[in-house]
Amino acid sequence: MKSRSDIIQHSLFEAEPVPGQHRLFSGRAPENTVPRVEDRPAGLAAIDDLDLLRQTVLKCRQCCLREGARGVVFGEGNPKADIMFVGEGPGKTEDEMGRPFVGRAGQLLDLMLKSHGFSREEIFIANIVKCRPPGNRLPTPQEVEACLPNLMAQIRVIRPKIIVTLGALASQTLINPGLRVTRDRGKWFEKDGISYIVTFHPAAVLRDERNKKRLIWEDFGSLKRKYAELCG
Ligand code: SF4
Repeated sequence: MKSRSDIIQHSLFEAEPVPGQHRLFSGRAPENTVPRVEDRPAGLAAIDDLDLLRQTVLKCRQCCLREGARGVVFGEGNPKADIMFVGEGPGKTEDEMGRPFVGRAGQLLDLMLKSHGFSREEIFIANIVKCRPPGNRLPTPQEVEACLPNLMAQIRVIRPKIIVTLGALASQTLINPGLRVTRDRGKWFEKDGISYIVTFHPAAVLRDERNKKRLIWEDFGSLKRKYAELCG
């Protein structure tokens, strides 16, 4: 029998753009580009309470990232949020404070949220990996594979209607490995009853405000309209 995580992972690569939008590709990505999800730890799939899940994930030692980090940054926000934001991994400030998106990128995210009528209290923010990669390097595929069950459990418990993927790693891991943020940002995808939108990671916007700020602003406008349509 297929495990819950098998089912989720299988469906990740069957994501379809909403009708009328460009179809990226069909079928599964090559196996070696796709992080596999194993059904472990056994207790994770059975947890349906976010606080209990938090306590469990805070003890995680499933990959070597934990050795170099101060702690696990679980994520924060409304346990019943309609909108979930998923980034890449904690940075230095996030690692120090144990909270996601609290550095400069987080301040930009807060500004965009506020400007579009949202607050941190009503959304949930998490990352693909929950311990800081040393030197802020990209997490390896093995680290993503190790941590993905934690995020999948969060999504299963919170049951958001909308997920905003911030940057390439989140977009490729959660929606489709063939996605390119510069090409596909602003597009909506439907999967397992959740609407996904791809946009830039705020840190990338800070590095290239001239070209990316207006675009991420447009994506937040699209998010606001979708939220009104689905949750208004
Ligand atoms: S990065 Fe994820 S899988 Fe690795 S130790 Fe931290 S919580 Fe566990």
